[in-house]
Amino acid sequence: MAKVSVLGCNEYNYKDLYHTLKQSIADLGGLEAYLESGKRVLLKVNLLMKRRPEEATTTHPLFVKALADILVEYGMEVVIGDSPGGPFNEKALKGIYEVCGYNEILGPKISLNTNYNGIHVNFDKGKLMKSLDVIEILTQVDYVISVSKLKTHGMTRFTGAVKNMYGTIPGLKKAEYHYTMPEIKTFSEMLVDVCYHANPVLSFMDGIVGMEGAGPSGGDPRQIGVILVSDSPYALDVVACQIVGINPLSVPTIERTIERNLVTQENIQLVSDKIEPYYIDDFNIPNIQGVGLLKNKVPKWMDRIVDYVIKPKPVIDKDKCVGCGECALCCPAQTIEMKKQPVIHMKNCIRCFCCQELCPVKAIEVYRHPIGKKMLKM
Ligand code: SF4
Ligand code: SF4
Repeated sequence: MAKVSVLGCNEYNYKDLYHTLKQSIADLGGLEAYLESGKRVLLKVNLLMKRRPEEATTTHPLFVKALADILVEYGMEVVIGDSPGGPFNEKALKGIYEVCGYNEILGPKISLNTNYNGIHVNFDKGKLMKSLDVIEILTQVDYVISVSKLKTHGMTRFTGAVKNMYGTIPGLKKAEYHYTMPEIKTFSEMLVDVCYHANPVLSFMDGIVGMEGAGPSGGDPRQIGVILVSDSPYALDVVACQIVGINPLSVPTIERTIERNLVTQENIQLVSDKIEPYYIDDFNIPNIQGVGLLKNKVPKWMDRIVDYVIKPKPVIDKDKCVGCGECALCCPAQTIEMKKQPVIHMKNCIRCFCCQELCPVKAIEVYRHPIGKKMLKM
């Protein structure tokens, strides 16, 4: 049985966070059930990009601070880290740590990761990925804990504990994986392999203020008011989806984990409050259905037309764009040409929406043809 604790917490107040996290951990059986005191643990947070905590794109620093303090009191040495969307180097991470508020949460035995190396590892247990590149710090700690943010995602509908582990893949290597596995089924299979490899012993989710709509970075902050903790990242995602009204089976990563028997909805034990009081029935959930909807239902010669009408595509808002070039840098298909402003050559676009995810000023929108929009509602 996978255990999941769901407790209410309405604001980023250190005292409340500390006590709620302590209670969640106690609900799960205490740290001693999962960690040996005196060892080193990586808190794999979500630091997607340079965003202030109140923008709800990244795991809130006070949440991480309260958790790190609890772990240190127990006798752990804590390293906080992530490999965000762009390059994985000192310059990029320095700016991210600063803007995201992480420089203020350090203390004795609590540090930020400054090892920017990647390492190639074999992984026999992987379904798709028999070997992969990971951030070296992952191999230099005794335990990994996932500390994610509850958000929607334009490609995978939801991003939580499992997708958070994609940040164990170094920098632009993520773009390469996106490019070589553009289909959502294969991509989500790879994400589950990456999480399975990282093997978080505990998973925490900052669901106090999450993100709805065009997540994981272009959406809107939304008050949810919960902290979720589990001994299974797969079970945690199922419960988080239920809270915000997302059908877990409509999330490709959850579909894959169910296929692999990593979780079943019957094998989840709630060890804390009832979750019904936290349900949100008007959470803005992105529609990720694409061309697959009509696959095999139309003649082959219509594929291109269907593709044009149904498939969403990235569109630049020229008034918002500041010409920083981040989108061109992160595009796995290298199909964005930087002039004064970026130009997307759609022919090679794999619709991964990394550009939208990493645009610092939300200048890239996901456009869907009006006929396509109508068809998806049918
Ligand atoms: S243009 Fe954007 S959506 Fe298309 S491949 Fe590049 S990053 Fe992905
Ligand atoms: S679209 Fe966004 S990421 Fe791309 S150049 Fe403009 S501001 Fe930068």
